[in-house]
Amino acid sequence: MVKYELPRLPYAYDALEPYIDKQTMEIHHKKHHQAYVDGLNKTLGEISGEFHPQYITSILSDLNALPESIRNAVNFFGGGFENHKLFWESLTPKNESGPSGKLEDSIDVYFNNFENFKKEFSNKAMSIQGSGWCWLVFNQTFNKIELITTPNQDSPWTRRKIPLLGLDLWEHAYYLKYQNKKLDFIDAWWNVVNWDYVENRFSELLD
Ligand code: MN
Repeated sequence: MVKYELPRLPYAYDALEPYIDKQTMEIHHKKHHQAYVDGLNKTLGEISGEFHPQYITSILSDLNALPESIRNAVNFFGGGFENHKLFWESLTPKNESGPSGKLEDSIDVYFNNFENFKKEFSNKAMSIQGSGWCWLVFNQTFNKIELITTPNQDSPWTRRKIPLLGLDLWEHAYYLKYQNKKLDFIDAWWNVVNWDYVENRFSELLD
């Protein structure tokens, strides 16, 4: 069976300062993300390997194929594992430009322009009650990009949507530095989004 591991961060814990502080990054990665990794391995260990030969994104895309006894746990820990993996990968200390290429074109088509896209994303993120995520996803059915939110650790893959960019809005993602000022965290996060990464994810879908 596949054993999942905590992915290394592609930058140092303090690299995203002052927007995301070192202590938050360290606890978020070493403690929270590790807990999702451990929970996922433990849960999948409870069933035999034949049920899960695929990678977690495929499993999340078809949760009903799993034994009911572990479905909720795979949804939570598997979503938590994959959501955070994408979250780290989509951040960079060198955020020098906005979206480009086909992603920029698509944002202009569906959101008018980048500034308006950021406004709509931020509003959507602010609308989350309790813990959850805000996402830019690719909707394969309609061949378009769109914004969605998911509660808890639900992954867009469970909605048959492909995540391109995700923002963690659990309090553990920002509370040490921003306390109740969630909008300040969202505004700061825009400064460390890795648009090259998001653009690459999007381009690969179109090829
Ligand atoms: Mn988190």
